[in-house]
Amino acid sequence: MIHGKLGRVVLVSTGVEYEVPCDNCQGVACIGDVYVLVDGTLLNSSSLSCNSCQARLEFDGYGCPEQLRERLSSVARMRLLVPPTVSRAQVMRAARSAFDLDLAHARQVAELAASASLTGLEVELAYLNQHLTTVAGDVAKIVEAPDAASDAGLDAVLLSAGFGRE
Ligand SMILES: [Zn+2]
Repeated sequence: MIHGKLGRVVLVSTGVEYEVPCDNCQGVACIGDVYVLVDGTLLNSSSLSCNSCQARLEFDGYGCPEQLRERLSSVARMRLLVPPTVSRAQVMRAARSAFDLDLAHARQVAELAASASLTGLEVELAYLNQHLTTVAGDVAKIVEAPDAASDAGLDAVLLSAGFGRE
C-alpha cells in the first residue's frame, strides 16, 4: 500500500483476471489488472504470472489506459448520487480538477449528475467524489447501479475526452 504525504490512505480498487499465452514458454499465463484509488491518485497495476515457466512481470501506471477500460467493461457499475443542493458549476469544477476535462466534457458530467445518471467505475466515482467534497462538502453518495452500461455515464465522457490515453 502506498502512503501519501498527508498520511491518509484512501483505497478503492477494481480488478479483473484473465489468461494469455506466455511470451516466454507458450504456456498459459495469468494476468491480474487492478485500478485503484490510493491517497487521492488513480493508479493502475498489472501483474503477469506463468505457471509453466514461473515468469513474473509487473507494470504500473497512472490513470486508466483504454485497453484497461475495455477489460473493466465487465465490472459492475456504480452510481454517484449528487443532491440537488450541489450546483452544476460545482460538479463541473470537480470534474475538471479530477480528470482535467474541458468545459464541454465537464458540462456532460454535470448533466449526468443532474439527471441521476452519473454511473461509472466505483474507483473513478470515488475519485470524482473526493474532488466534489473539496468543492461542495461531503454530500454525494455512491450507490449500486445494477442496470448501468459500461459505455454510458462517466465512462463515455472519459473515453470521449481521452482520459488515460497514452
Ligand atoms: Zn511461461
